[in-house]
Amino acid sequence: MVTSTVGFPCMGAKRELKVALEAFWKDALPEDGLRAVFAEVEAAGVAAAAAAGVRLIGVGDASLSGLMADTTSRLGLEAPRHAALPAGLGRYFAASRGTAGVTALDMSKWFGTNWHDLVPEIGVPSPSTAGGAGWGDLVARVRTAQQAVGVDRVVPIVLGPVTYASSCDLSGGATVASVVAAITPSYVEALRALAATGVPEVQMHEPTLVTSAAADARPVYEAAYKELATAGVGMHLVAPYDDLGESFEWAPRLPGVTAVGLDFTTGDNLGLLRKSKWPAGVRLGAGVVDGRSVWAEADAAAATLAAVRAAAGPGVDVAVQPSCTLAHLPLDLAAERKLPAELTARLAFALQKVDLLVKLAAASAEPPREGAALLGSSMDDTIAAAIDEALFSRPASFAERRPQQFTVPGGLGTMSIGSFPQTPAIRRLRAAFKAGRLPAADYTSALDAATVECVLLQRDTLGLDVLVHGELERTDMVEFFASKMHGYAATTAGWVRSVGSLCVRPPIVMGDVSRRDAPMTVREWRVAQDAAGPDVPVKGMLTGPGTLLAWSFPRKDIPRRAQALQLAAAVRAEVADLEAAGARIIQVDEPALREGLPLKRHAWDAALTAATRAFRLATCGAAAGTQIVTHICYSDWADAAVLAALDALDADVLTVENERSGGAALTALAEAGYARDLAPGVFDIHSDVVPAADTMRARVDAFLAAGLSPERLWVVPDCGQKTASPALAEASLTAMVSAATAARAAC
Ligand code: GLN
Ligand code: ZN
Repeated sequence: MVTSTVGFPCMGAKRELKVALEAFWKDALPEDGLRAVFAEVEAAGVAAAAAAGVRLIGVGDASLSGLMADTTSRLGLEAPRHAALPAGLGRYFAASRGTAGVTALDMSKWFGTNWHDLVPEIGVPSPSTAGGAGWGDLVARVRTAQQAVGVDRVVPIVLGPVTYASSCDLSGGATVASVVAAITPSYVEALRALAATGVPEVQMHEPTLVTSAAADARPVYEAAYKELATAGVGMHLVAPYDDLGESFEWAPRLPGVTAVGLDFTTGDNLGLLRKSKWPAGVRLGAGVVDGRSVWAEADAAAATLAAVRAAAGPGVDVAVQPSCTLAHLPLDLAAERKLPAELTARLAFALQKVDLLVKLAAASAEPPREGAALLGSSMDDTIAAAIDEALFSRPASFAERRPQQFTVPGGLGTMSIGSFPQTPAIRRLRAAFKAGRLPAADYTSALDAATVECVLLQRDTLGLDVLVHGELERTDMVEFFASKMHGYAATTAGWVRSVGSLCVRPPIVMGDVSRRDAPMTVREWRVAQDAAGPDVPVKGMLTGPGTLLAWSFPRKDIPRRAQALQLAAAVRAEVADLEAAGARIIQVDEPALREGLPLKRHAWDAALTAATRAFRLATCGAAAGTQIVTHICYSDWADAAVLAALDALDADVLTVENERSGGAALTALAEAGYARDLAPGVFDIHSDVVPAADTMRARVDAFLAAGLSPERLWVVPDCGQKTASPALAEASLTAMVSAATAARAAC
């Protein structure tokens, strides 16, 4: 039975590529040096798959910035402001990071994963790909891999033309169909050049096939693949992250397609396979090894594989592969030293998943064994159903609550979103503490001193109306809470690339979740509130249950809903403790609310209901006089169900990213008639430039002109200041407060 990989982590065992990227950006490493590190990490991935015995090794999803970025430069579809820059890595990185006077492209989460890729801007006239860098880089990388493991084992990975075009920001009359038509000739050239190296097939990754948009795109797929087939090399169509849905009937029959890789770990491809006849001569790549989960599930994968073979019937050639690229997983479980043994026995990271592929293929002749016993947990849907309905509602309506809550005279209250700059000094303190070089008491008192300084800056220098403690003790808004809860395991080296060179270590839900260090945040809040004095409120700062779950590796044997409700119960207890300590305003961040939605539109309503219920369980214990703030960012608002869910959260204040998204959030909320307090961001926190007070004042005036009353309107940044420099954070917030003050005076 053939085994195949469809992508592999590329940061390196010691995050060598991250280090090299950051050094290159600081001019501390020449281009050659960066390229050498990239080649090494890619070669290491190929070597690992070969050593494990994988037959067809996917090569090409490793990237300095992501496949959208790579495809854009290969096709020559840079936005005009980037195309004007000299060709080369400077131009390439300007698209993702910006450069002097030239803004970057927008980023978007990749098909519900935690990877972000670029959103290229494409307009009319129809793109000409004549000026593109071409596909020579991929051909060269494929040749290098072929020299290492043999010509017939290397399969190039290409982001398919329909997914590429569908993931761009199209304007000026450009359509997915027109862009695909324009770029397909370049893809044909790519396929010919790759075929000339002797590859057995080429992987065409088309995750849009699993989205609700696939049905409409069918003619576009058919036209494109008809043309691609003329290159004469077999195409392995890879459709990860969900089932094919309605496209199950036609996608495997697209011209030139000789293999189809399907995800059998989410959705219902198995049910679809049982109902239909698989096309003759097309290999079925059974993605039974879950590329998005750290759980090994060897027996479950073997059982699914057996079921897939039975459903496909005797004539179908079935291969074993991961459900998607393994790049969403940490690299190597063997690098973990501190995980509990009973957990380690059940986990598999990317390298272990590759081994699993080969074992599954070898054992596929044997009948699957019974599933191994799972880790204990009391979570299930009966528990969820048993929660008293009253716990999901506040004691009073928003109209009744609002007069009992904090109000800034004249309205237009100012505050931040929570985090303040994590300076090198703070990072050094944390590193020293974690390495055992700084005693806990010294670490705590140093952080407390920094917290007090942060509070005094906000109160005395900036003059903000509502203060925060600054989140200086938190590395990350999920990892921090996970470290304070039972039922969560933290990895030491389980890095997963999230955007650019940024890697995160998602914690693993391993059992019943509850607060270990109860309360989790009250001490730091009290330090801040004591420093602020009785007249200025300090917000309590928590992460919401949906975001905690979305940015963790959840259990797979327990419904997500049940896990979210358990997390919600822990957050609810923390809300109660903050209230008891005297907090009058509590912010519960839920940035993952929108991005965590399923890829199929018909599944949104249920997901949004579950997300809102978890948020309400977390927050509805608050007294009427306690102001519940929530914060959401990185979101696409153009959907009535999402807007309705925001209302259903029943928060008192909604802070949303608005500036970076060009005002889209506020427009959508206004049209939907959102009636509670609103805090649309007035400056982009990703920019290195201090925002002008006049520009922010104009934003506030426009919000007022759009009908928001000053009493309902708050003036805030788009998101937290964590990654800003102290000077930039101070200057930006100073300008923001002066804009709000001027607007208030004019009301
Ligand atoms: N409170 C968090 C912060 O300010 C929110 C971060 C986020 O929304 N991603 O950093
Ligand atoms: Zn945010």
